Amino acid sequence: MRVTAIEGERWRFLVQSDTAPDTQYLTDLEECDGVGMCDCPHWRCRLAKRIAKGERVRCKHTEAAREFALDREIQMHQEEQALVHRRR
Ligand SMILES: [Zn+2]
Repeated sequence: MRVTAIEGERWRFLVQSDTAPDTQYLTDLEECDGVGMCDCPHWRCRLAKRIAKGERVRCKHTEAAREFALDREIQMHQEEQALVHRRR
């Protein structure tokens, strides 16, 4: 599942649809108290109601974006650490 970062956005990503490769869904990982939201039909028609009742459920796009975001955070952290060590 292809995830695309959005320039200047830390927690929002575009995730390609499995069933319609020309379609991308916008996910926002910090929405809904950190559960995340997505503009795919599954999220809007089913998950939104469950999240409103307090369930912490995610669609596959949000899951993919979370994995992408964590990889990026770790990479940025490692680059920062490398810079700090170089300066010493
Ligand atoms: Zn979705």
